[in-house]
Amino acid sequence: MTATIVWVYPELLSIYADRGNVLVLERRATWRGRDVRVLPLRLGDELDPGTADMILLGGGQDRDQVLVAEELRRQAPRFREALADGAALLAVCGGYQLLGHRYLGHEGDEIPGMGLVDLETVAGTTRIIGNVLLESRDEAGTPRTVVGFENHAGRTTLGAGVTPLGRVVAGGGNNGRDGSEGCRAGRLIGTYVHGPLLPKNPWLADEVLRWGLARRGDDRPLEPLDDRAEQIAALRAGNLARGERR
Ligand code: GLN
Repeated sequence: MTATIVWVYPELLSIYADRGNVLVLERRATWRGRDVRVLPLRLGDELDPGTADMILLGGGQDRDQVLVAEELRRQAPRFREALADGAALLAVCGGYQLLGHRYLGHEGDEIPGMGLVDLETVAGTTRIIGNVLLESRDEAGTPRTVVGFENHAGRTTLGAGVTPLGRVVAGGGNNGRDGSEGCRAGRLIGTYVHGPLLPKNPWLADEVLRWGLARRGDDRPLEPLDDRAEQIAALRAGNLARGERR
């Protein structure tokens, strides 16, 4: 009963250490004696909805997003099928932007999105860069924080019915305007938070891992891990973000 982590276009969508998200899911599974494998999805590969239990997309420069957008949009039905069957999906920054309808670049050039989430992104004239602190909730509704780092030109607006991942306490978030950050829809999470995201937010890592293992038929509760180092890192990152209040 091996759960599969699909790492989408690792050569093109994995900036600002987003590969760390893949490593953290793999480690937190194996530390608990769970079998997982990491399967890179390279340009030209077809996503197999039947085996993709956790689908991870990292960030990318505009030019990298152009290179992958058409293929991602063509494969959207496969992603949709995996999600409908209980797979988890985590998309960061450039990967997050491509979950939506489109990303309008600086010169009005349009990068097509997958249309998985009702959101749209327009490139701003400045970049939103810095540490970020969010107020969020886990799937049970328990208040949580999310900490990390953001670096994006895109300004994302969520559709009326889309739930943000969290509310910005410090940082820019989706667009530096409406106080929202990221999106959450069932077992899909999108966010601008790099860092990488998951090492400093172990609660979120375990939420994605729990979904992916459950999809593979393993819904045993996850044994607690010694997350003292992660909590200290999260506290420090949160204080950094507060100190940078923009
Ligand atoms: N190229 C996109 C932007 O600038 C995404 C950047 C990223 O993935 N960090 O908004």
